[in-house]
Amino acid sequence: MSTPRVEINLNKIQKNSQYLVQKLKIKGINTIGVTKAVCGDPAIALAIIAGGVTGLADSRIENVIRMREAGIISDITMIRTPMSSQIQLIVDSCNFSYNTEISVIEALACTALKKGKIHNIVLMVEMGDLREGIMPSDLENAFKRIVQIPGINIKGIGANFACLNKAPPNQKIMSLFSNIIDKLKNQYEDNIRIISGGNSASLPWVFSNNNLNQINELRLGESILLGSDPISGNPIQGLYTDAFTLISEVIESKRKPEFIKTSSAKIISNYLKKNDQVILAIGNQDTDANSLVFPNGFTFVGATSDHLVLNVSNLKLSIGAECRMKMDYNSLMKVMNSPTVEKKYL
Ligand SMILES: *Cc1c(COP(=O)(O)O)cnc(C)c1O
Repeated sequence: MSTPRVEINLNKIQKNSQYLVQKLKIKGINTIGVTKAVCGDPAIALAIIAGGVTGLADSRIENVIRMREAGIISDITMIRTPMSSQIQLIVDSCNFSYNTEISVIEALACTALKKGKIHNIVLMVEMGDLREGIMPSDLENAFKRIVQIPGINIKGIGANFACLNKAPPNQKIMSLFSNIIDKLKNQYEDNIRIISGGNSASLPWVFSNNNLNQINELRLGESILLGSDPISGNPIQGLYTDAFTLISEVIESKRKPEFIKTSSAKIISNYLKKNDQVILAIGNQDTDANSLVFPNGFTFVGATSDHLVLNVSNLKLSIGAECRMKMDYNSLMKVMNSPTVEKKYL
């Protein structure tokens, strides 16, 4: 079989999706499956849909178009504020988009009207992650202006946590979010059907609280795909953490001096401690080599664009032998985006 390749267990992805959908449903929360880490891979998107999610979401229009071209008709939300240069594509392929800029919303409205459509939006509120979001103090004014724009329908509000600042939401910030919603609900109840409370980093808060402060939707990528918590990297109970496996092969296997910063002359003069070392034919051009998890007995030494060097204990690995590795979010994202890593669906 060819390497490098990523083996994708669609059944485990479906099971993860289903587990989270059912667990959140009990709490009154709908699940949106986020496909951006797998570049909108249609087979994976279908496995997530089969788990029962309410819809899909992605941050890149190319990924959305890829899913549409594969025949996926579920609701797809654009979760990155649309680029002004992509307004037409967004209105054509996305049922919803997340927004924070009036000029973009006006452009979406104008395009939707021309096409005889209504485009649905969710307004993002800044709740401390300091990535996208309208400042809470500006929200009421934004609602006042946007509800009057024909061609646009505000369907709800959302907040993002832990992407930039790595701080998961807690009860304090969630009750602030809830207060903001309460203020708006008096006047705009119909426009606040969706209350989207964050990504996989919100799961610990959701599972450990009974008062969910009106949150009725989460957008989940990493937890469905990798079964892990984005902040700690720890496995989430009940989920598979091995739906994806990266496989590369050995192209060199030799005893070499240990890797320390010293002159090349010293290294080849043959008095340093020696290690068994292998080189795998994969590198930072294919993945994020620093964040791979290797089998027992292998330790990461370093990686360049196309080579990954490992020390090996008690193992003889022949040339051409395969090495199986686990990935985190960053390494998965790059692998799925790499045309030189074969995708093999199990
Ligand atoms: C990426 C993203 C998500 C999904 O995050 P995960 O940590 O993968 O669950 C949710 N919402 C927004 C706005 C995102 O950009």
